[in-house]
Amino acid sequence: MTLNTVLAFAHQVMKAAIKEGDTAVDATCGNGHDTQFLSNLVGETGHVYGFDIQNTAITSTEAKLTAQQSNRVTLIQDSHEEVRRYIKQEHTRLLKGAIFNLGYLPGSDKTVVTTPASTLTALEHLLELLQPGGVVVLVVYHGHAGGDEEKDQLLGYVQTLNQRSFHVLQYAFINQKNTPPFVIAIEKRK
Ligand code: SAH
Repeated sequence: MTLNTVLAFAHQVMKAAIKEGDTAVDATCGNGHDTQFLSNLVGETGHVYGFDIQNTAITSTEAKLTAQQSNRVTLIQDSHEEVRRYIKQEHTRLLKGAIFNLGYLPGSDKTVVTTPASTLTALEHLLELLQPGGVVVLVVYHGHAGGDEEKDQLLGYVQTLNQRSFHVLQYAFINQKNTPPFVIAIEKRK
């Protein structure tokens, strides 16, 4: 396919914003794929903070990282709402990107899902902490119970962000069946 898939688009945005030495946040580690991707973008001198409330997600993320990658990754088993408590000041000054994969962890307990209140709180905090030119990307899976509500609240919120401060876009395939995921990307303006 010539058009980027939703996941490829999400990665392209992160790649454009995050450079060697920067700080990045994976707000929902899940299987660890994005934590690993971010650890490669920030390189040896950067830092990644990965959050997940489930121990199984933290464990599989840990297992995915090489020893070298682990050196620059801090994994935190806590809600992403608490992000401000964990990011060190010297890293906040370099925070250029954050990613969320919403919904449930495939192959795991489908009742453990991201929720509107905590997703929105985490997003607000991350947008505050983010450096100018930085991005927050959300891959919005919404086919599960409660997914619609989260999607609606999120879209409602991001549409209110002031255009003088943020560029906000939605990337979605609009002819696909079965509630495919889509991306919301938010860039903090310089
Ligand atoms: N739906 C995606 C994967 C989403 S994984 C896909 O199909 O690829 C979402 C992860 O978010 C899960 O591992 C879940 O444990 C985690 N999560 C849920 N609520 C959270 C919270 N408040 N803080 C951090 N992680 C959370």
